[in-house]
Amino acid sequence: MEKTLSIIKPDGVERKLVGEVVKRFEGAGIRVAAMKMVHLTSEQAKLFYAVHRERPFYESLTDFMSSGPIVAMVLEGDDVIQKNRDIMGATNYKEAAPGTIRHDFATDIEKNVVHGSDAPETAKMEIAFFFNSLEIC
Ligand code: UDP
Ligand code: MG
Repeated sequence: MEKTLSIIKPDGVERKLVGEVVKRFEGAGIRVAAMKMVHLTSEQAKLFYAVHRERPFYESLTDFMSSGPIVAMVLEGDDVIQKNRDIMGATNYKEAAPGTIRHDFATDIEKNVVHGSDAPETAKMEIAFFFNSLEIC
């Protein structure tokens, strides 16, 4: 069974969208295998998004991601990396399909409510960033 990392970003937690987001995953037959709330430091956010360090939005993104608590989850299911990306919608909420989380709730290209791993290798790295094996059920 495939696993992926999902994050409800600080905007989603602050706007009390945790239940709504989890409901969408579970409603699609996805299992939550681990979950924790954490407040990243700016350094931790920079490490997590290191792949984007040359991008113009890196400083702002990592400031945002460390601005408040987030909910990190391991999701499990068949083809769950792609399924989660489909449920999230496009990075830019203006291009996200109706019914996706980002279409329905995002307010900004940066404040787009959720993160999801984009490939098996990144899923593995991102899960290990937040969870040890004992924390994944
Ligand atoms: N982002 C941004 N401006 C951009 C592109 C991305 O602020 O022009 C932010 C946004 O929060 C996005 C995150 O950086 O979710 C990571 O970007 P990526 O391209 O990996 O998008 P994702 O995989 O989250 O859809
Ligand atoms: Mg990405």
